[in-house]
Formats: sequence, C-alpha cells, structure tokens
Amino acid sequence: MNDNAAPPPIPFLDLKAQQARIADDLRRRLDAVLAHCQFILGPEVAELEAALATYCGAAHCVSVSSGTDAIQIAMMAENIGPGDAVFLPAFTYTATAEVPLVLGATPVFVDVDPRSFQIDPAALRDRIAAVRRAGKLRPRALIGVDLFGQPADWPALRAVADEAGLFTLDDCAQSFGASLAGRKLGCEADATAVSFFPSKPLGAYGDGGALFTESADRAALYRSLRTHGEGTTRYEVLRTGMNGRLDSMQAAVLLSKLTVFPEELVARERIARAYDTRLGNAVTTPYRVPDSESAWAIYAVLLKDGEQRDRVQAAMKARGVPSAIYYPRPLHMQPAYRDQHDGAPLPVSEDLATRILALPIHPDLTNEAVDRVCDAVLAGVA
Ligand SMILES: *Cc1c(COP(=O)(O)O)cnc(C)c1O
Repeated sequence: MNDNAAPPPIPFLDLKAQQARIADDLRRRLDAVLAHCQFILGPEVAELEAALATYCGAAHCVSVSSGTDAIQIAMMAENIGPGDAVFLPAFTYTATAEVPLVLGATPVFVDVDPRSFQIDPAALRDRIAAVRRAGKLRPRALIGVDLFGQPADWPALRAVADEAGLFTLDDCAQSFGASLAGRKLGCEADATAVSFFPSKPLGAYGDGGALFTESADRAALYRSLRTHGEGTTRYEVLRTGMNGRLDSMQAAVLLSKLTVFPEELVARERIARAYDTRLGNAVTTPYRVPDSESAWAIYAVLLKDGEQRDRVQAAMKARGVPSAIYYPRPLHMQPAYRDQHDGAPLPVSEDLATRILALPIHPDLTNEAVDRVCDAVLAGVA
C-alpha cells in the first residue's frame, strides 16, 4: 500500500460493523424463525412488543409495518378525514404530512423553534386560532415531531393541544430511546409513532414501526386496523383497515438490536459531545433541549449561509467524509404540498433549510473518524 493513499471514505452509517457486534445472537434468533415458520405474528412479535413497552414505560405497544403506517393507523383510529386540520411542523420528513393528505385531511404547517428546530408551541397556538377564524376546517389533531433524536417541547405542546381539544400524536420516528425529564419518549402524547427504518436509531433490516399508547381502547383499535379491521374472529371485519403488520423476521432483528441499544445510545452521546467540543467555536452545534437526552439520530450543525455550507460540504467530500442535508426544502415549499399551504409565513423552516448540515453519527464511528470529520468541517469553514 502507498503510504500517501487517501484514507478510505467514512460511512455515514455503518450497519455492517453493527451486524458484526450482534452476529451470533442475530443468527440464533433468525434461525428460530426459520424453524417455526410463523412469519406473520409469530412469537417474536409479541416478545418485541412487550420488550419495547417495558423499555419506554408505555402501557401498550402495537408493532406495525412502518413509521408511516404507524401514523396512518393512529389517524384512522381517530376517524380523521375530510374537513379536519392536522397541525404539524413544516421542517420534518415528508411522511408526517403525507398521511393526513392520504386520509383526505388538511395538513397545517407550523414553524419551528430556531434553536431546537422543534415545532414551536407558540406558533402552534397562533395557527390553531387562525384556522378557527377562517372557519373552513375543524382543528382535530397535532402531529408533533421529535426531530433528529431530540424531544419536542411536549409539556408546552400538550397545554396548547389539550386546550384546543386536539388528538396528539408524537411522531417519534427519529427519536426512540430519547428521554425528557428522566422519562423515555413513548408516553408524551395520546399515542406515539416510532419507525424502525434501517437508518433510525433502532433500525430493522427492512421496514417496521410501532405505536405506543396508555389507552387500552386505542391499542385494541390499532391491532384491529393493522389486520384489515378484523374483529375478535379472523373473518369478522369491523372497519376499514390495512395490511400493516410487522413480520417475525424483523421482530427477531429488532430483539437482537435492542440488546445493544442502550450502549449504542451512550456511544452516540459520546460522539455528539466530541463534535460539540471540537466544532463549537466554528459552527452552531446542536442546542440541547433542557432536561433531555437525545437519541442522536442526526447531528446537524448550522452554517452562516448556503455558500459556507457548500464550501464545507466540498471540503468534507474531498476528504472522504460524507454529509447530508435534512431537509433541503421545508414541506410547504414541496410541489406535492404547496397547494395545501395557506400562505402563512414560516421563516425559520425556510432559513434552516438553506444552511443546515448533518455530520455522520453512528455507534461504530471511531475516534479517528470523528477527528477526520472535525478536521474536514474546520477546513471548510476556514
Ligand atoms: C422516518 C420518518 C417517518 C417514516 O418512517 P418509515 O418507517 O420510513 O415509514 C416519519 N416521520 C419522520 C419524522 C421520519 O423521520
């Protein structure tokens, strides 16, 4: 090997390294599924639901086929549809806004807090009042998003939503494992939706998701809706549902990953602190939501402007260091949703989109790789 060769590129996410850590346990659990052949709702599914509920202290967990389907099932259970306003942040992944539209409801985009990037409770209150004044839509639900691994301001959001009589759904797709006031996310809203997409903090080897709720009635509805609206017997159909189950293979993978999940959260926190320390004087490092622990799905810094972001991304790329932009466009500016937007200004979401940048963060990122990421960012800023 040539000593002067460029070091190999750093992976944004390293699922192979993680797989090597859990290889024996994973193989054993997958072999068990292959032996019993109950691929749908096999014993792993119930075992996983119990383990996840215990992990986050929720009364009920219902596993489903994806984070998006979790949001959809929760909305279907409340009969949300045409004429209903569903409030959600403008700065989030598309899935949050897609579900209300699929059900015929109207997403109402709310701006986010410039420091935490989380949905702004004061802006939510204003948007609910504006919808009431306009008199066209019924305010029905809030989908609050815990963005990037950090919790939204649920105490303040609950106060606004409860006063307005809204159903509250926590879109915790990115933030399972995070905590607020010493309590794991999962119990902050009427229901909580989680995603097990492979790149989320707790990821399957395919699509998957879960719903958490304190309500036994809601949990029963979710179980019915995920299996075509079935009743107490298989061929009794009580309501329009969907095919929305998590399969036994994915449950086996998640059970295996859950055994190392707590130590992975510690590793992510350690890397976040290293970035904070080395980059804090050069870029705006993530604000920490008070009294919270992040799951660090994404570590996003803010640059001065789009030009500086371009320079930093180029410097990183030249050094084999990946970066990503979440999100280059707020949802109210997307072609699919533009016509839904009532024109209210959402300046924070628009500003963040121009200068936010995500650095690699995953439990198998070495100290040496963290140094290379920091050197590349600092070279780009300079
Ligand atoms: C990933 C994600 C979803 C959707 O989860 P899937 O499992 O991919 O369907 C929903 N909301 C947010 C904020 C997400 O990041």
